[in-house]
Amino acid sequence: MKTPAVFFDRDGTINIDPGYLGDPELVKLFPNVPQSISKLRNIFGFKIVVVSNQSGVSRGLISADDVEKVNLKINELLKPEDALIDAFYFCPYHPQFSPIEKCSCRKPSPEMILTAADDLNIDLSKSYMVGDKASDIISGFNAGVKTVLISTSKNDEQIIILQKEDKRPNFVAENFSSACNFICNDFSGGKT
Ligand SMILES: [Mg+2]
Repeated sequence: MKTPAVFFDRDGTINIDPGYLGDPELVKLFPNVPQSISKLRNIFGFKIVVVSNQSGVSRGLISADDVEKVNLKINELLKPEDALIDAFYFCPYHPQFSPIEKCSCRKPSPEMILTAADDLNIDLSKSYMVGDKASDIISGFNAGVKTVLISTSKNDEQIIILQKEDKRPNFVAENFSSACNFICNDFSGGKT
């Protein structure tokens, strides 16, 4: 049977984004991330998948191995709350630094979400994408999942980009846990 999933952007959504994060020691999760992921996964039965643009790799600033180390660190930090990311996908390419045909994974393309759906037998019609950038929301839109934008004073231009493109998210959340609460509530038809 297919399962629903919540897809998350990584930097700026799950963890603070220092720019081209390659050092696991610098990983800092946002408040309530372990608890919220635990609830989505263990109570609601969502698969948890990270889909992340990591152009720092093609820019030569970090290695693919660094990206993997950061991913491992995130799961280490989630573990005490019995939370886990089931799978991490990342796109290391950028059109300015890579052949254009390699860049098809890069958000706003839905490719990583669609690949994960195939790999993990995910029901996209019951799934969600959460991110802090317009490209995250458009990627979710393009994959046919519901979308949640985490909007703070640091990224308030993103909602304007989405309004201009007429791709408004299903919900605008002020932080990670409010994004997850919307999903739990929406998924159960407003009954929680
Ligand atoms: Mg981000």
